[in-house]
Amino acid sequence: MIWVSYTQLKLFEQCPKAYKYRYVEKLPSKVKPVLLMANSVHAALKDFFLIADTEQRTKPVLEDLLRKAWRSSSDRKKAFKTTLEEKTYGEKAIAMLGSFFDKHDIKAKPAALEEFYKVPYDANITLCGKVDRIDTSADGSLIIIDYKTGKPPADKDEFLNTDYQLGMYGILVRKKMLTKIEKIMYIYLENYQELSLSPTVEYLENVYDKVINAAKVILAEKEFLPKPGSFCRICDFTDQCDCAKTAPVKQVPEPEEVPF
Ligand code: SF4
Repeated sequence: MIWVSYTQLKLFEQCPKAYKYRYVEKLPSKVKPVLLMANSVHAALKDFFLIADTEQRTKPVLEDLLRKAWRSSSDRKKAFKTTLEEKTYGEKAIAMLGSFFDKHDIKAKPAALEEFYKVPYDANITLCGKVDRIDTSADGSLIIIDYKTGKPPADKDEFLNTDYQLGMYGILVRKKMLTKIEKIMYIYLENYQELSLSPTVEYLENVYDKVINAAKVILAEKEFLPKPGSFCRICDFTDQCDCAKTAPVKQVPEPEEVPF
């Protein structure tokens, strides 16, 4: 029996052996500055939208919520090598939230915040995932939001053609709440950008088939072979996996001459 989230499917796609370390042997992920920053930003935004009186939702309040989440992270001491490094990440997080505050409707009243959804497929497979936020539009349909602290894709159309994370959120919410979904969107917090789609029933069914087939492949997997490649550079299990030592090193092109 497996529970399958988008993160699990993605890791299996990237490298079955890394998946095995994480979800079969249940080894912990590495503590990384970027992860601590992302978790703190998400926690701050959740607490911010829990403030019922929208007049109390100010930029200093949002920044303080970030500091509170940051302080209470148990990995904080391990995550940063120096105070300067922590400061750099902290300032980046503050800038993201500042941009969000300036450009987003901060008076929104979400219907759900960081809710965990699970949808059983059969006795062996259950789809699951945590959805950052769900808003309700005027006609009662839903807007599903996922915050991203990474960079937006260069080619948005091409990205949306292959992405299935938004669709997976749509499936989880639709099967639970049985309400029409108006829009599913990523909000890229660095320089605030929205990327969204309006899912048709056909789109969600296609994603559902894709996800269930991928889950069946994982369920039947026995070998979990390594897939050395560029992902090894950011893999959490380089200490355990011999392939990390022989993985190709990313070639950095020679810098171009300056035009002056
Ligand atoms: S180091 Fe590379 S091959 Fe080994 S588990 Fe990680 S991603 Fe897979």
